[in-house]
Amino acid sequence: MGSFVKVGVMVAVLAVTASCRNNDVTRNDPSLPAASTAAQNAGDDRVAKQVFGHIPTASNQQSEAIGGYARGCQAGAVELPETGPTWQAMRLSRNRNWAQPTTVDYIQDLSRFAATLPGWEGIYVGDMSQPRGGPMLTGHASHQSGLDADIWMLPPNRLNLSRQEREDLSSISMRRERGAYTNSDWTEEHMRLLRAAASDDRTARIFVFPGAKVAMCNWETGDRSWLNKIRPWWGHHYHFHVRLTCPRGDSSCENQAPPPAGDGCADAQTWVNNILNPPPPDPNATPSPSRGPLTMARLPAQCTSVANSN
Ligand SMILES: [Zn+2]
Repeated sequence: MGSFVKVGVMVAVLAVTASCRNNDVTRNDPSLPAASTAAQNAGDDRVAKQVFGHIPTASNQQSEAIGGYARGCQAGAVELPETGPTWQAMRLSRNRNWAQPTTVDYIQDLSRFAATLPGWEGIYVGDMSQPRGGPMLTGHASHQSGLDADIWMLPPNRLNLSRQEREDLSSISMRRERGAYTNSDWTEEHMRLLRAAASDDRTARIFVFPGAKVAMCNWETGDRSWLNKIRPWWGHHYHFHVRLTCPRGDSSCENQAPPPAGDGCADAQTWVNNILNPPPPDPNATPSPSRGPLTMARLPAQCTSVANSN
């Protein structure tokens, strides 16, 4: 298994370019409990994305977010309606407009706020989770427990896009200089939308490219507390990524440790500085070994029930 190191390097390189690969945020967090490997799925070496990536419907179970954002699944998910008065779900062919009820409520609430912004009819909603969550065959490492959602940066000017138009239309990038700065498509309305998204009590974190965070740090003249939840990350210039906290009572759901105290603006500026003047690579750095794709055994035990449920 000497290829693991090579894979680890590849993953690290991909993380720089991929749009939504924020698994490292959770994987490196030592405060998180290890996923349970009770007898139910111990020894089940099926690749979990092959199991969860092909199930077309939600489980007929009580709604529950299970495990972590990058190592979990969801029971009793609900579907964000494909079109609402102030939103449309995009890329319907992916069947990723599923989430926990709290996430669907949140998206609808945020969309109603967005519709009050000049130039915004509402929001275009990108990937949420698969019908039963879990790892995906393509794309994200997170979005597994029904508590993550991607919101397009493209302001919707109509909400009657056909299914085909929702496959063909692309969002637009907001970045310049590899993410050190915002570009001319970035507006005050984007910042007002992100502020509303971060100010919601249900929100744990929002991931967006570093230049956007610094722009918001410079823009806000009042209460800065919401900036705490805005986290600079790789990619995330075609969309921003909302991550919600575990719903109350979901005992198997694993929250991340909260972001460090403060507005995080100095940290975001460091990201920007490192984009503009990349530091030399650390000669002592060892790539973190990849353990290969998640197997069923490495997911919380309940995920086997979720996968097997009607
Ligand atoms: Zn995302």
